[in-house]
Amino acid sequence: MFFIYDFAMIMQFNSRYSDLNAKLYHQQAPVPLKGAKAGHFNEAIADELQWTSQEKQSWVDICSGQKTFDAFKPLAMVYAGHQFGQWAGQLGDGRGLLIGQVLHRSGQTIDLHLKGAGLTPYSRMGDGRAVLRSVIREYLAGHALNSLRVASSNAIGFTTSEQGVQRETLEQGAMLLRTSDCHIRLGHFEWINQYAPELLAEFTQKCIEWHYPEALQAEHPILAFAEGVIKNTAKMIADWQLVGFAHGVMNTDNLNITGSTLDFGPYGFMERFRPNWINNHSDHQGRYAYQNQPSIAHWNLWIWLNNLIPLSKPEDKETFKKQLADCLEHFEPTFLTAYTEGLCKKLGLPDFHKDSFDCGMAFLKVLQSEQLDYTQSFLRLQNHDYKALRDDCLDTRQFDDFLNLYHQIREHQDITALDQTMCDVNPVYILRNHMAQQAIEQAERGDFSEVERLFTLLAKPFTRQPALEKEQDLAPLPSDVPEIMVSCSS
Ligand code: AMP
Ligand code: MG
Repeated sequence: MFFIYDFAMIMQFNSRYSDLNAKLYHQQAPVPLKGAKAGHFNEAIADELQWTSQEKQSWVDICSGQKTFDAFKPLAMVYAGHQFGQWAGQLGDGRGLLIGQVLHRSGQTIDLHLKGAGLTPYSRMGDGRAVLRSVIREYLAGHALNSLRVASSNAIGFTTSEQGVQRETLEQGAMLLRTSDCHIRLGHFEWINQYAPELLAEFTQKCIEWHYPEALQAEHPILAFAEGVIKNTAKMIADWQLVGFAHGVMNTDNLNITGSTLDFGPYGFMERFRPNWINNHSDHQGRYAYQNQPSIAHWNLWIWLNNLIPLSKPEDKETFKKQLADCLEHFEPTFLTAYTEGLCKKLGLPDFHKDSFDCGMAFLKVLQSEQLDYTQSFLRLQNHDYKALRDDCLDTRQFDDFLNLYHQIREHQDITALDQTMCDVNPVYILRNHMAQQAIEQAERGDFSEVERLFTLLAKPFTRQPALEKEQDLAPLPSDVPEIMVSCSS
């Protein structure tokens, strides 16, 4: 008799969040999505997380809260935060549950978080649900950022249903199974400091063990941890700026301690280059405008560091405060180095040349004053299509000044190598708002083919895919077409 062994791996759990003090979470089962139907499944991630063929077959049940894992009791996390610069008090997973912590093939522990899973003690005025529109936006954006090599949450899949959920209009309910290396937010520390300060030392110790184990070897692990969080966040923000991503709601409860993008709401990818661009139409002050992201991250980290102060001995408090402030000094150089190096790569300029950064700024100035498409313009530069760029400029002198400097810098360099780098880092495809919108509108009519098309396209953003692409993937909508309004409601 022959047995057919399933050589696929078996999902391995590392259920550690529930080791923490029970004040930090509430264990409860998801409320399943009624009449759930398949939306889209990211089988590659399921494979990386070692799902068995049986689990893969049950993905709709898992991604709609009907099936949970015996090895993990689902839980909602409590946290707090500053929203739009104001202390917001207690927050928490109001509609999402951690339903598993599992090992990635690489050995890293990945959280499985089911979004739209029903009311929790932290739902406040919300209904515990997520709508198809925002679930698709989160699904595609996480996938797009990961493919662009920007640290970010991702998702295994999403489901949809006829169950109505009220937002500005009645929309379709949906659920998303999100993956992230970390769901511990800056706001977790704010909650502990405010409501359960006795938990701070142990919580911090766990964060270090789980997410910054190398800091345990440092002379002062807490400071090494703080420095790690600051540097990772600075690097993430540099990556956002380079691909033209605006998060939209950089509240302290929406940034995690590993510096990977979390909680997609009214985000957007930059089209026509406008540094003061605000994609979130509820952000009237422009607090979270594209150009403010570095300074907002710095502000958030400063708020966060204040919550570490009680970890010092009373007699060392002043020294410790100074040491924490010194950690924050790492933010700007880390950001600037990553941003400058990245910008030089995008432009095909050597980062060691003294004029490269200025040349990059001159290019961005052209894009800004001529309202050119950010992604498309780097591609034109990469293709040496200077004429097309120039033809789109009203102020050709400004463009010529840039181009002269550009050629001067590249003159004695290895152009082939620089051009190859440009091809490696400049995406052909980003998730433009109108692309996501098209996929959403079709999905709301029960047709997921556009989600599938974008999913495939955005999996390889640096590679031209003529058979798959549509003309509108490559450029912004004409400037006389009204912009798509992206609101906070999700
Ligand atoms: P956000 O700004 O979208 O990250 O949400 C802020 C807080 O509101 C988080 O604690 C969310 O869990 C909660 N929240 C957002 N939408 C809902 C909803 N529909 N039901 C319950 N809680 C929600
Ligand atoms: Mg949030």
